[in-house]
Amino acid sequence: MKSKLKGIVWMDELTLFTMALGLSKPWHVVDIRFSKEEGRLDLKIDFSNGAKFPCPSCTEEESEVHDTKDRTWRHLNFFQYETYLQARVPRVRCGRCGIRQVEVPWARPGSGFTLLFEMLVLQLSREMSVAGVAEVVGEQANRIWRILGHYVDRARRQVDLSGFHILGIEEFSLRKGHVYMTSFSDLEASRVIYLGESRRKEVVEEFVEDLRGRGTDPGQIDLVCCDMWDPYLHGLRNHLFQVQVVFDHFHIMHQLNKAIEKVRWLEQKENKALKKTRYL
Ligand SMILES: [Zn+2]
Repeated sequence: MKSKLKGIVWMDELTLFTMALGLSKPWHVVDIRFSKEEGRLDLKIDFSNGAKFPCPSCTEEESEVHDTKDRTWRHLNFFQYETYLQARVPRVRCGRCGIRQVEVPWARPGSGFTLLFEMLVLQLSREMSVAGVAEVVGEQANRIWRILGHYVDRARRQVDLSGFHILGIEEFSLRKGHVYMTSFSDLEASRVIYLGESRRKEVVEEFVEDLRGRGTDPGQIDLVCCDMWDPYLHGLRNHLFQVQVVFDHFHIMHQLNKAIEKVRWLEQKENKALKKTRYL
C-alpha cells in the first residue's frame, strides 16, 4: 500500500483512515463515502475474513463469527462534516454463555456514538449547558443527556464511601430562587455525593435510599452538619436517628442577631438611648 517517492510517504485513503481511527487487526476501513451536499462522511469498517473474536461475557477463547448485525455510530467531525462509522458487528457462539455480540474497540455496547465523540461531549459539558453542547455538536439534547447519564452513573459506582461518616446538608436555589435543591456531602472528603430535588423532609429519605442502593450503610454516619431548617431535622429524626446534629455557626449567629434586633426594637420605645443603634 505504501510507496516512497522522493522521501514522501504516500498511502491510500483507506489505510489513512484505518490508521487515523486507531484500528488494528482484524478491523480496517473498507469503504469511504463522502457527500458534500449532505454534509457527511461515512466510513465503512469491516473485519477480515475468518477472523475470530473472544466472548465479551467470559473472554473465553476466541470463536468463529456466528452472524452479524449492521450498526452505525456518530464519530468526531471530519473538518465541518458529520462523520459516521458503519460496521457489521459479529456475534459469537460461546460454549459457556451462548450467543453474544462482540464488543467493538471504538464504542461501548449500546451506544450510537464512538468513544471519542462521547469524550468530546463530556469535555464540552464541563464548560457549557447540555443545550449548548447539543447545539455545538448538532445532536438532540436527550441523546447528550443519555451519554452524561451513563458516565455519571459509572463514576458514582466507583466512588468509595466506606470511610464516609460526616454528612453536610445544604440547600441551594436555582432559577433565581424559584427552585430549591439540597446537596448532601461527605464533609471530610469535600465531595458532593447526592443532590435532592427539593428541600422538603422527603429528601433525607431519598438520600438514605440512594446510599443503600450504592451498598453503603446509612448507619455509618454519626455526625450531620446542617442549618436549622425544620424539614431536614424532621427527616433526620426519622431516617438517620443515630446522628448528632451540628448547626453551623453562620446560622446560629444569624438567629442570634435576629433575636437581639427584636429585643432592641421592642425596648427602644421606652429607652431612647437604643434608637438608631441597630448596627452598633
Ligand atoms: Zn462466554
